Amino acid sequence: MNQERKTEIHDIIILGAGPAGLAAALYAARADLNPLVLTGTQIGGQAALTHQIENYPGFPDGVGGVELSDLFQKNAERFGAVLEFDNATSVDLTERPFTVNTYGNTYKTNSLIVTTGASPNELGIPGEQEFRGRGVSYCGTCDGWFFKEKKVVVVGGGDSALEEGIFLTRYATSVTIIHRRDELRAGAILKERAFNNPKISFIWDTVVKEIKGDEGVEKVITENVETGEISEVATDGFFVFIGHTPNSKMFKGQLEMDDAGYLIVDKRMHTSVDGVYAAGEIADPHFRQVITSAGMGAAAAIEATHFLENEG
Ligand code: NAP
Repeated sequence: MNQERKTEIHDIIILGAGPAGLAAALYAARADLNPLVLTGTQIGGQAALTHQIENYPGFPDGVGGVELSDLFQKNAERFGAVLEFDNATSVDLTERPFTVNTYGNTYKTNSLIVTTGASPNELGIPGEQEFRGRGVSYCGTCDGWFFKEKKVVVVGGGDSALEEGIFLTRYATSVTIIHRRDELRAGAILKERAFNNPKISFIWDTVVKEIKGDEGVEKVITENVETGEISEVATDGFFVFIGHTPNSKMFKGQLEMDDAGYLIVDKRMHTSVDGVYAAGEIADPHFRQVITSAGMGAAAAIEATHFLENEG
């Protein structure tokens, strides 16, 4: 193997620095375990991509996603957590200490907390990156308020698209759901609620080809997949709910996961391997909130602490 790779042995390594990872780091640091956090590409995870977070308790005036992530980080570092801007590329969980490889380093650790999150699927169309955070969003709960008295378009036909679309009607004057087929994937209850909501309308058999605007989103260009007809839909906001992909590829064959790739944990955040815990969206396809992820991270760190105590 590469002679230059350095090998360090840690009590606890946390993969990911979103709310789950940073909460785990805080708890592990306060247990004097000197946790090492391999941050991945985005400190704060999806929370840091959110303009304003208004549902995290303790911030009655709301808090910026980046600001909250900074506070999480400072809080963990204050007690000795070390954040390394490094990206895990593979792991070996077959024996302890576990091995975590990054592009440049090999780390050994007696326990591991996986908080690598999930990424919302993107459409990959022109304008999507350009207007991200300026009208393009992947989270109605986070960003709906910014579209008070405005028009929004939602893409997707699953439970998320309908649930978030219905949520967005609290703020928006109209919610247009664009779906690529003429039949929804979502369950019956959400379908009925959406069909009965006077603010919601549907455009069927249609895909969005491009998002256009100036300072913010102004319209989307659509194509009817049956007729090929190109149209424009004027809108202030554009929400994409076409599924999430958990960032769990490197654990395949080593940790139990469901068909969608979410890691399976028990009520105490234990994965299928002793000494390996998972928290946040990597193990939670349901809630996907900063507060639930942070709570899972804290629980995982408490369990890892007990594990290390029992292992001596
Ligand atoms: P999903 O069920 O996978 O639905 C994704 C939707 O996006 C589908 O309608 C799909 O179209 C569409 N889509 C995918 N790729 C697309 C693309 N490139 N362009 C246009 N449309 C595209 O994802 P989800 O709605 O996020 O739900 C994920 C899981 O969480 C599901 O098991 C769901 O039941 C669950 N969930 C449950 C609730 C609830 O019970 N309240 C709420 C949210 C989520 P097609 O239909 O044509 O494939």
